[in-house]
Amino acid sequence: MKVVLLGPPGAGKGTQAMRIAKEYQLAHISTGDIFRQNLRENTELGKLAKSYMDQGQLVPDDVTIAMVLDRLQKDDCQNGYLLDGFPRTVAQAKAFDETTKIDVALDIEAPDELLVRRIAGRRMCSCGATYHVDWLNGKTTCDVCGKELYQRDDDREETVYKRLMVYKEQTAPLIDHYAQAGVLKSVDGAQDVEKVYEEIKKVLDGIA
Ligand code: ADP
Ligand code: ADP
Ligand code: ZN
Repeated sequence: MKVVLLGPPGAGKGTQAMRIAKEYQLAHISTGDIFRQNLRENTELGKLAKSYMDQGQLVPDDVTIAMVLDRLQKDDCQNGYLLDGFPRTVAQAKAFDETTKIDVALDIEAPDELLVRRIAGRRMCSCGATYHVDWLNGKTTCDVCGKELYQRDDDREETVYKRLMVYKEQTAPLIDHYAQAGVLKSVDGAQDVEKVYEEIKKVLDGIA
């Protein structure tokens, strides 16, 4: 199964992706996580990506497309994968269409005021796990791996509005793109994590 997760920043893509990947045994490919990993390792790709990420802008298509196509060649993707954060522009989607036919594009939607609240309280672990301060009760380490949690630089309020704008301009058109391809399914991301996941499972079980 090849799944693309769509939706604005803060909709819950990463949170749901962790669950889906585990239950359906899919490789979880998060382009944001790959860029952040490169940033931590201070690679050339990391340095390039940082200049865009800090501004709330997208990393250029050519770099991003090459990175993802390369990643999808690895063995862990042979049984299917879940793309979280790619494609994010029509150019990326078109380049990807030329190589692959996906089974479903799952669009997770939520209203802006909810997105802003979720992003402002998001705490991350370098292992990819995501938390929200509302549920942490003062805890500062990761349940999965024990490392210290941090706030993403681009989750600060100044950058968040920019990212929401970039989403509307450059990524939201993909909803139409995948609707026309006949693979779009939408779920209501404004519900509890569990409820959203139940909806997603219904969609995926209808495909598998
Ligand atoms: P995305 O990957 O789409 O940017 P995340 O999965 O990182 O979104 O979620 C953004 C923030 O909102 C995180 O702090 C996460 O813990 C929280 N969150 C995710 N899904 C929900 C939900 N259904 N209800 C409330 N908070 C959520
Ligand atoms: P979000 O939680 O907003 O969905 P991500 O972790 O997916 O954030 O992405 C963080 C940043 O990484 C983006 O704002 C962008 O700069 C960069 N990025 C991630 N995926 C892509 C992509 N497919 N194309 C271009 N830039 C990307
Ligand atoms: Zn962790």
